[in-house]
Amino acid sequence: MELRLYDTLSREKRPFVPLDAKNVRMYVCGPTVYDFAHIGNARPVIVFDVLFRLLRHLYGEAHVKYVRNITDVDDKINDRAARDFPGLPLNEAIRKVTEQTGKQFHADVDALGALRPSVEPRATEHIGEMREIIERLVKGGFAYVAEDHVLFSPQAMNAGNSDLPRYGALSNRSLDEMVAGARVDVAPYKKGNTDFVLWKPSKPGEPSWPSPAGIKAEGRPGWHIECSAMAWKHLGEQFDIHGGGIDLVFPHHENEVAQTCCAFHQQRMANYWMHNGFLQVESEKMSKSLGNFITIHELLADWPGEVLRLNMLKTHYRSPIDWTMKSLEESAKTLDDWYRTAADVEPGRPAASVVEPLLDDLNTPLAIAALHGLRGGDIGALAGSLRLLGFLSESAGQWESRKQQASGVDAGEVERLISERTAARARKDFGESDRIRDLLAAMGVAIKDSKEGTTWEVAR
Ligand code: AMP
Ligand code: ZN
Repeated sequence: MELRLYDTLSREKRPFVPLDAKNVRMYVCGPTVYDFAHIGNARPVIVFDVLFRLLRHLYGEAHVKYVRNITDVDDKINDRAARDFPGLPLNEAIRKVTEQTGKQFHADVDALGALRPSVEPRATEHIGEMREIIERLVKGGFAYVAEDHVLFSPQAMNAGNSDLPRYGALSNRSLDEMVAGARVDVAPYKKGNTDFVLWKPSKPGEPSWPSPAGIKAEGRPGWHIECSAMAWKHLGEQFDIHGGGIDLVFPHHENEVAQTCCAFHQQRMANYWMHNGFLQVESEKMSKSLGNFITIHELLADWPGEVLRLNMLKTHYRSPIDWTMKSLEESAKTLDDWYRTAADVEPGRPAASVVEPLLDDLNTPLAIAALHGLRGGDIGALAGSLRLLGFLSESAGQWESRKQQASGVDAGEVERLISERTAARARKDFGESDRIRDLLAAMGVAIKDSKEGTTWEVAR
């Protein structure tokens, strides 16, 4: 069976044909590093990690290149830097903020079982490429300078040049409607009200770089140009897959396509545009004001990362996901069972029943259902399939201690209470043995008595 992927641009599932099977290339928009990443940010990380693993399985590890950027130029970063390090020059404070939050991001996504991408470029290290693309756009008549800004004109792009894609094609919008619907308070230096910023002047104290297009004052890039520059540098003018959350289709990805295709005079930037659906929490939009904003870091204090991973993959990546405590508890039970059954087994080839749904536009819920099917049969295939999906990264023993750590249960204390209870039962003091059982239950520990003795697990 061949791999088929849903492409947002053509709005259909198509067979995946790489430009070069020896060098399959994927770009995914990464985080803006100004704070702890939230569980919504974990969704593209996990979804595209599964795709990365699947592509490596199909084309070979050495033949897949995955680029996920780190956005380290942003107003939110500047604000945080000024707030947290008021005594430092802004540039130094910014470096501190992005170093710290970048490290935190890595710790979080490592715990989720996501492989590191082949390259993780930072925006600040690609200012030269951004300037070069901007120069090309100005020369080509797609962008213009006004009051030390460089602006891209979607109208110029759509003005009859049939070698280029149509601005609005990716997000399925018409430029006329966008023009009509544009806000009334459009900046006065813009010629058209849908024009967007490629480069802008820096305010005093803000990070700044020499400007392109003959502008004397130093400035800084707009957000969209960053990804065009980093994708170009690391993957070339055209590549296979571009991914991100559904919220990025417009304007971010629409603008990326526009910049890249106009700069390099081509019809396509990526051959497949993939977008994950949004995550909400207990049926509500996640937001700081609703108080239901959860970071990956907080969740990892209570749950092993693989539980979060499984919980994410139970829903198809294009559907919205409702993140609930109930579902997390079920995911924890499932994973626990898999660890006990398969973690210490020699992994076999991943089962066709698991790989086939993945080939069908990453149908992870169906793949997970197939894993349940293997549970009573080929355990080697179960182990191999789970590893393909990024599970079972540790032994069953390590898993037990991680679970206990995550749940805050002190294993030594549990063992001590269990032997006290065993002694109470031996002397037929059932009042005391029940009391200890209740005490353990209150600690979140379930016990099971059998002929071999008493075993325990962390109950959720
Ligand atoms: P940001 O740092 O906000 O640019 O987001 C980084 C990535 O996380 C992007 O691909 C976003 O589309 C994605 N993302 C942000 N919020 C959510 C959410 N609630 N559900 C799913 N994906 C999200
Ligand atoms: Zn991007």
